[in-house]
Formats: sequence, structure tokens, C-alpha cells
Amino acid sequence: MTFIAPVKFAIDLLAVLLLALGIKGLSKVRSAREANRLAAIAMILAAFGVLLNSQGTIGISINSWIWIICGTLIGGILGALIAKRVPMTAMPEIVALFNGCGGMSSLLVALGVALFPSADSSDGVISESIRNFSIVVSLFVGAITFSGSIVAMAKLQGWLSTPSWTQSKARHFFNILSAVLALIGGIYFSIDGQNGLVLIVFASSLLGIGVTLPIGGADMPVVISLLNSYSGVAAAAAGFVVGSQLLIVAGAMVGAAGLILTQVMCDGMNRSLVSVLFGGALGVGSVASGSGGGEYTNITSCSPEECALTLEAAEKVVIVPGYGLAVAQAQHTLREVTRVLENADIEVTYAIHPVAGRMPGHMNVLLAEADVPYEQLKEMDVVNPEFPATDVVLVLGANDVVNPQAKNDQTSPLYGMPVLDVQEARTVFVVKRGMNAGYSGIKNDLFDLQNTSMVFGDAKKVLGDLLLELKELGVGSKG
Ligand code: NDP
Repeated sequence: MTFIAPVKFAIDLLAVLLLALGIKGLSKVRSAREANRLAAIAMILAAFGVLLNSQGTIGISINSWIWIICGTLIGGILGALIAKRVPMTAMPEIVALFNGCGGMSSLLVALGVALFPSADSSDGVISESIRNFSIVVSLFVGAITFSGSIVAMAKLQGWLSTPSWTQSKARHFFNILSAVLALIGGIYFSIDGQNGLVLIVFASSLLGIGVTLPIGGADMPVVISLLNSYSGVAAAAAGFVVGSQLLIVAGAMVGAAGLILTQVMCDGMNRSLVSVLFGGALGVGSVASGSGGGEYTNITSCSPEECALTLEAAEKVVIVPGYGLAVAQAQHTLREVTRVLENADIEVTYAIHPVAGRMPGHMNVLLAEADVPYEQLKEMDVVNPEFPATDVVLVLGANDVVNPQAKNDQTSPLYGMPVLDVQEARTVFVVKRGMNAGYSGIKNDLFDLQNTSMVFGDAKKVLGDLLLELKELGVGSKG
């Protein structure tokens, strides 16, 4: 059986390489699909590698195989069903749920080894003190990840609102107390390797709830990304617990990637991580304290026909996609509209805000589905200076990402978040169903401006009507 040891080493190495290549490929839209496949293959190889124990033998009893196969089948089928059925707009909830599952798995692995030391497969490679310390870290981070992710998912689904006590100083007391209790549990366990487990899990779970509950509104994506990073840290710690180098590497990669994404998102919203975690909720819960509310006084609306007439005369058009476009699943109709405009030699580009929609890269994925050329997508920093020279901006189901309050009103809960300066363009059309607020729950000053017209209706219906009007006008029908 000794030949298994080099085979195991080769499998582990290949899995790590494929995972690294997969993560690298995800940085480009073109290679993302392939990269995702590579990462999935890496995970299958990794799971297979783990089944070969560290002495290079397939030393697993038939009973264990039954458990492993049953667990893999149940988890695999559930995961595939969820992934197939979930609408794009519910992706953040699913990511939160999967992060929570990751945290819970690491917690259970560490708990298993702590309660049943015979389950330790590290074969003495890891010293007892490192193992105990890793168990504590795995339980601590795993429990925070699990409870925090479940709270985040419930908040995104609208099942849970932000309780008022979490907006007061009481939450700092609650969080500090939970952290201290978890620390006491950790010290207990490190000393005798037995007691303190329940205290760590219980106190850390409370800490996860206490940290996530006050966060809301536009800060939610940052928290989800941070929890993703935590799930990686918990997995890496679990890797030390069971002596799996592969788990350590994969966990560290997820932890680092999640942390980088968190920083990118913080930069995109001009927020520091500390202010996200300790600054309280943006959005509905805090609207009352800022000026974000108020009545609209100068709303003008128009029909798709009037919108088509203005588009016909334009030379440069910028499309701003937002969450509502994803809800309406109007990306294909939008693509038809932009094809007509391009046929009429009208320059069309798409302005992509880093937190538009409900998940990082949401708009890129949505537009890629409709075969929008990637070169036409422009990031916020690139497109903002171009708005003064733009004839028409078509805002489709976007709201927070085009709210000028973020720049002009220091009392606004959105103040400081970089936004698309669409108001600088000659004419702005905003397509949405009514006057509902965006994710942050506040009024949008753009809608009151002189050069803004609302085109009310579901984005798909409005774009369909717009397409008919453009065709009736003969736009893009040359040749
Ligand atoms: P918003 O959530 O601010 O606004 C979306 C707008 O779309 C609503 O005002 C709604 O108005 C309209 N809408 C909804 N359904 C339709 C439809 N069928 N047809 C037309 N319009 C529709 O979206 P943005 O993309 O501008 O901003 C994203 C927000 O979400 C930011 O605050 C961001 O921080 C937050 N967020 C982002 C995440 C990410 O990772 N990208 C994750 C979680 C939150 P009406 O009902 O009147 O039609």
C-alpha cells in the first residue's frame, strides 16, 4: 500500500494548483466559468485526497465509507438543488447560507476531535498544544461565522429587522461580554483539554449575532464578504486540528480572498471596515437619524415614446443597470434595445457601480448573460468624468448607486459612498415601477432634478415598449 503515499501527495498538490488557478481565473469575466470548473475539480480531488490517510493507506472502515457516501450524496444533492433553483437576486442569501455551512463544518470537525480524541487523524504530526489552540480558534471563528451568516441571511430575506437596542451602546457591552466569555472558555480548554467547549461555542455564537445584527442597508455586502473570509479562517484552523495541509491551504486561500474582496468593497463604498463593523446600521434602521427621508416635490414622468424620441436624437448613451433590472430579468430586452441604438451609430456604454445589485459582480454577470460585450462595461471611476459629455443616461432599476445625497448631504446615511454622477448628463431617464426607495431605504434627490424624467413600469415591460417605439421611429433600421 506504500504506493498510495506519493499518489496522495500528487493529488493534494494538483488540487492546490487547480484551486490557485481557479481563483486567478475568476478575476476575469471571460475565464470565470472555466475557472469555476477548475476549482470544483480541485475540491473533488481534495475530498478524494483526504480519504487516503496520512500514512498512505486507505485506512477507513467500511462503516465510515457508508457515512461518507451518504453525507456526500445528501449534501451534494441539496447543494445542486439549491444552486439550480436560486434566482440571481437571492444570491447573497445563498452565499451567506453557504458561508454559515462552512463555519458549522469547521466547528463540528474541531468539536469531534475535542470530544473524541481518537478521531484525530493527524497521527501526532501536530503537537497537543497547537491542536488545542487550533480547536479553540476553529470553534470560535466557526461559531461566529455560522450564527453571523444565519443572521445576515435572515436580514437579507427580510425575516429579521434591526432591533433598536443594537443601535445603542448596549450592543458594545453585549459583544465585549460574549468575547470575554469565549476567551475564558478558550483558556479553560487550553489548560485541561476538556472543559470550556460549550462556553466557547455558546459565547462565540452570541458574538456572531451581536456583531451582525446591527449591520444593515448598504453595508450588508461587506459583512457577507467578511463572513466568507471567516469561513476560510475556520477551515484553516480545522486543517491544523486534523493535520490536513490541504485544508490549511484551501482555508487560507478563502480567508485571504474574502479579506481582499472585503477591502475592495469597503473602498468602493468609501467606508472603513471598522466603521462598517462598529458604526451601526445604514439604511432603514438609521434613516430617522439622517436626513435621508423627506417628500418628493418635483417629479416629472414621461412615456416610453417620449424616451424613444430623445434617444433617437442622442449620440452618446450610458446605461446604468441596478437591482431592479435583475428583478425584472430584463437584460435580454435591454440588449435588443442597445443593438438598435448601436445600429443607429449611437455610442452605448454601461456604467457599473461596485455594489449595484445584490452581490459583488452582479451586474457583470447579468449583462454577460445577455452577451453584452465586456469592453462596453465601464467602472465608476472611468465613467464618472464622461457624464457631462453624455446625452442620455438610462437608469434601469438602480437607485442607491445614483443618489446624489451620497455626495451632497452630510446628514444622509449614504454620505461618503461613491456614486455614479448621472445628474451631470444632459437628460436622465429613470425606469422603475414606482417611488419606492432602494436598498438603503432613503429618498433619492436625483428624481427631483430638472433633467430627470421617470418612466414608470416594470423594467422589462418599459424596455419592450421602448424597443417597439424605436423600431416604429425607424431607429437603427439603416441598410
Ligand atoms: P437599489 O436596491 O438601491 O434600488 C433598486 C430599485 O429597483 C428600487 O428602488 C425599485 O424601485 C426598483 N425595482 C425593483 N424591481 C423593479 C422592476 N421589476 N422593474 C423596475 N424597477 C424595479 O439598487 P441599486 O442597484 O441601485 O443599489 C444596490 C443596493 O444594494 C446598494 O445600497 C448596495 O449597497 C446594496 N447591496 C449590494 C450588494 C452587492 O453585493 N452588490 C449586496 C447587498 C446589498 P420600485 O420598487 O419603485 O420599482
